[in-house]
Amino acid sequence: MSEPGVVVIIPAAGSGSRFGSELPKQFHTLGDRAILQRVIERFLYDERVERVIVPVHERGLLNIGEQPSGKRVQFVKGGETRQESVTKGFEAAEMKKGIIAIHDAVRPFFSIETFHKVIDAAIRYGAAFPAAPMVDTIHIVDNDQIVDTPDRTKLVAAQTPQCFRADVLRDVLSRGAGGDASDEAGLAARLGYVVKAVPGDKLNFKITRPEDLVMAERILAEFGK
Ligand code: C5P
Repeated sequence: MSEPGVVVIIPAAGSGSRFGSELPKQFHTLGDRAILQRVIERFLYDERVERVIVPVHERGLLNIGEQPSGKRVQFVKGGETRQESVTKGFEAAEMKKGIIAIHDAVRPFFSIETFHKVIDAAIRYGAAFPAAPMVDTIHIVDNDQIVDTPDRTKLVAAQTPQCFRADVLRDVLSRGAGGDASDEAGLAARLGYVVKAVPGDKLNFKITRPEDLVMAERILAEFGK
């Protein structure tokens, strides 16, 4: 049986308010090119990826280089929330079957090996995501006071790329319409789907604040990723 093709959606229509800059963080330069450009190119050079769809408000400063033959990057108008941007990307994909991967525009150091494991888990279970174990103790606070301390051994941080069978994602996005989920894996689980956790990678962090970009520059210099 041939492997189903993978279509990647990279929601990139966020304003990056926590980054404290006019220019959304995904358009900032990391090394010699924009973070978003790096992310798109990394997917394009993966043999399991068929197409890349990028919901954006502005295409901005991107200069996507030579594309491997037959692969396409399609920019579509993003939405007011992340979930709306993903929905617009999914509508543009017009997919009836196959696997959809959703990846934050600001995670340039995702591992292709982990990505492939998440794809395979999605083929098998319907939905999967990379999960990083928590090293910190997490407290729930209210009014600056601890009200609960969940068991750390059961907590993971949800990373991307998160992968879904097209029929699963279609149902999840239509039933969860109008919401503002911070990730689709959680939305799918809330709606009753099995969502498989695949071990994530420490380097796959989300560039959120200015200091994260400093760290990303160091990683790039050290590992050349
Ligand atoms: O805000 P946060 O860091 O959770 O955003 C995660 C991803 O969702 C980013 O890639 C951001 O650009 C994207 N996003 C979007 N449309 C929005 C808000 C966020 O595509 N309206």
